[in-house]
Amino acid sequence: MVVAIDGPAGTGKSSTSRAVAAQLGFSYLDTGAQYRAMTWWMLGHGVDVDDPAAVAAAADKPEIVSGTDPDHPTITVDGVDVAGPIRTPEVTAKVSAVSAVPEVRRRISGIQRAIAAGAEHGIVVEGRDIGTTVLPDADLKIFLTASPEARAARRSGELKGVDLKTTHQALIARDTADSSRAASPLAKAGDAVEVDTTELTLQQVVECVVTLVEEKRVAR
Ligand code: C5P
Repeated sequence: MVVAIDGPAGTGKSSTSRAVAAQLGFSYLDTGAQYRAMTWWMLGHGVDVDDPAAVAAAADKPEIVSGTDPDHPTITVDGVDVAGPIRTPEVTAKVSAVSAVPEVRRRISGIQRAIAAGAEHGIVVEGRDIGTTVLPDADLKIFLTASPEARAARRSGELKGVDLKTTHQALIARDTADSSRAASPLAKAGDAVEVDTTELTLQQVVECVVTLVEEKRVAR
């Protein structure tokens, strides 16, 4: 059973995906962390991330490994634990430019498909293009949305010390870049179920998704 959960930043994708996977005994893959890991490596190796040709030329170099236990997800680059460094504002500001490069997407999508194919009991894969491009045959596709205000408020709650206006602007800029790029942009798959999380608690969203998974299981 493959569950794809896509949507813009701040809609509760990660918290929902992890909780759903834990509840169902599934694996969990955070694909945003992989794009962040690639970006972290490029910044550390002096690659000009605003030059798509330079990014493309380096896309095959870092070895990115994701651990898929929803209770302890991990991410390493060339054996280094980068769970902390990939969340810095520097990486967040540059990840959309790196993830727009087709060679980066091809490389990381390949890793994602291999992980999904190897999952034993099922997997929840969260990202932007999972239902549309990476795993178009997923058993269940969810597209999470929320108002820009709710998304910014959630993000600034996570990023202590950063004010709401700055968070709001950065988030909108990243979504615009992610939605308008040529290579597999952020988009809702035609057969995805849209869930607006603006007025819902995390618990309610999780229950909603778990119910949809159970319905799919019965129907299979
Ligand atoms: O999910 P998160 O906010 O950590 O994602 C970071 C960035 O990675 C996104 O803004 C987007 O540029 C990129 N991304 C992507 N495709 C995915 C997941 C993330 O392009 N499937």
